[in-house]
Amino acid sequence: MSECLFCRIVRREIPAQIVQEDERALVFRDVHPQAPTHVLVIPKKHLGSLLEASDEDAALLGHLQRAASRFAAQAGLSSFRLVSNNGKGAGQTVDHLHYHLLAGRPMAWPPG
Ligand code: 5GP
Ligand code: ZN
Repeated sequence: MSECLFCRIVRREIPAQIVQEDERALVFRDVHPQAPTHVLVIPKKHLGSLLEASDEDAALLGHLQRAASRFAAQAGLSSFRLVSNNGKGAGQTVDHLHYHLLAGRPMAWPPG
């Protein structure tokens, strides 16, 4: 069994505030929110980052964006940011592909 933190959340071995789930994706609240709404959109399948994704995963990657847009619509968000840190240099700290969905405050650009 994988010791990966997010794989363990998928298997319910670690508690999380899950807000949406389907057969391929999980959406849950970030434990250290950086905005009034901050959830993580992850595939249930373990991929370390986008760098591990292959052509076989193309539909899954689209599915994750649809999961994000479904959450945004259901949460009544009129704007939000969807961002994925890939690699340590980009700020990735958990090695299981995830998208941050942030909303509820002004967003600066470029991000730090
Ligand atoms: P990264 O830094 O890899 O882009 O994002 C990882 C995110 O996972 C961080 O925003 C961090 O707050 C969140 N995180 C780390 N550990 C946990 C946890 O145990 N539960 C939840 N819900 N979020 C976590
Ligand atoms: Zn994992």
